Amino acid sequence: MINRQCNAMVYSATEYQKQQCLRKGVILEDGKYWCKQHAPSIKAARDAKLLAKRRAEHKARQEVSRYERHAKEFHDALVEIAISPIGGLDSLSMRKTARDALDKMEEGE
Ligand SMILES: [Zn+2]
Repeated sequence: MINRQCNAMVYSATEYQKQQCLRKGVILEDGKYWCKQHAPSIKAARDAKLLAKRRAEHKARQEVSRYERHAKEFHDALVEIAISPIGGLDSLSMRKTARDALDKMEEGE
């Protein structure tokens, strides 16, 4: 087998300029040989996976901050329901108290 070198240009740990990847080119794509890390299709898939992960993390952080912003309203609504005397707050009022707190969060995003 001919010893082909990966076509990618990469930064090495010691050089400031890019140099050709020293790995063996084992995948033929776009008429050039690439190592398993730098094949364009594999790189694109890796980038897409990373982007999806970043988006999911961003969404999770937004969700957390959304709950944090409304924590006091939720707390106050729960307290209002919890301290109501038996037979005091009817279920419709409790429902309204809970609904109002949830609506405020949904409006405020
Ligand atoms: Zn390579």
